[in-house]
Amino acid sequence: MRDIVILGSTGSIGVQALEVVAANPELFRVIGLSAGSANHALLAEQAKKFRVQLIGTSASEFSAETPEGVSVICGPQAASEIASMSAEIVLNGITGSIGLGPTLAALAAGNIVALANKESLVAGGDLVMKYGRDRIIPVDSEHSAIYQALLSGKSTEVKKLILTASGGAFRDRKDLSNVTIEDALAHPTWSMGPVVTINSATLVNKALEIIEAHYLFDIPYSQIEAVIHPQSVVHSMVEFVDGSTIAQASPPNMKGPIAYALGYPNRIARSTTPVDWSKSHTWEFRPINSELFPAINLAHRVGEVGNGMPIVFNAANEIAVHAFLSKKLDFTSILRVVSKTVEILEVRGYSAARDLSDVSVIEHDTHQVAEQLVNQLVNEEEISS
Ligand code: MG
Repeated sequence: MRDIVILGSTGSIGVQALEVVAANPELFRVIGLSAGSANHALLAEQAKKFRVQLIGTSASEFSAETPEGVSVICGPQAASEIASMSAEIVLNGITGSIGLGPTLAALAAGNIVALANKESLVAGGDLVMKYGRDRIIPVDSEHSAIYQALLSGKSTEVKKLILTASGGAFRDRKDLSNVTIEDALAHPTWSMGPVVTINSATLVNKALEIIEAHYLFDIPYSQIEAVIHPQSVVHSMVEFVDGSTIAQASPPNMKGPIAYALGYPNRIARSTTPVDWSKSHTWEFRPINSELFPAINLAHRVGEVGNGMPIVFNAANEIAVHAFLSKKLDFTSILRVVSKTVEILEVRGYSAARDLSDVSVIEHDTHQVAEQLVNQLVNEEEISS
């Protein structure tokens, strides 16, 4: 029986993690849950159903009725406090760089982290790997695939990591100048929150995953590639020096990687539906058009520079995506804002973040610059229309 904590329990990853727990009551006991402010009624319901005694929310107060026998921690530190509970595994399903603090808190408390919060590595890769090199198990489907494929050879035998990308809503388009929010939110394979879905359409999600892979597996950027695979059945691959490529395949369903991380090193029976070999399948792979999707090259660039630039990349994207979702920016301007922000802040020559406050300083600078660029673009449009 493993004691587990789930951060971001009302989000897509959190909800599916609780389904894995519910299907395997003999393996897991949930001892803590935390969520943002959006759905306290669901958080209360989860606490009751899984008999969790301690829950937390980043909101300043709990807006649902507190179930009997449950204690609630409120405020910005709540997730970190819940993450520090004495558990075996903390699943971090928080979205955004606010997930970094709780990841570090969980590691400091000696817990293993099943990490679905990619920003923890993008914004705090050096910090997280310094404290948790052997205690992070990836939940992102691509990294879970690589983690599994890497078991096929020695680390010195790895030639390349190849991340697969569904390609997002626009993988078949040649021109992205007139796409709408509705177009961008219609993801062909996975159903996710709005920010992640936009990040998938711009391929920023894949760009962040390249950075994530670099930190997780300690592989140089020059040996990490991404390829479009529309069916999303092959979740990623590792090429070894002998020319062999090992892939992990299963129909898209996040319960596979969630269960793998929670059960590691054991595989949990029937976590996900396997490929049905009684039917025909076509698996396609094609290179990414880097002119249409500049995010991938930009990720390699900020990754190579290191020293806070991945933080800038991610924070600028957060601002640009919100501007797009609030209809201030058009789709192609998202990457224009991100790449311009990177250009402006690169000359400041940040050093590598030593702690959370270094990260917040860089994020704060980035938000200022990116917001200014968004406003400039909005004004230019008003003048021209
Ligand atoms: Mg992924």
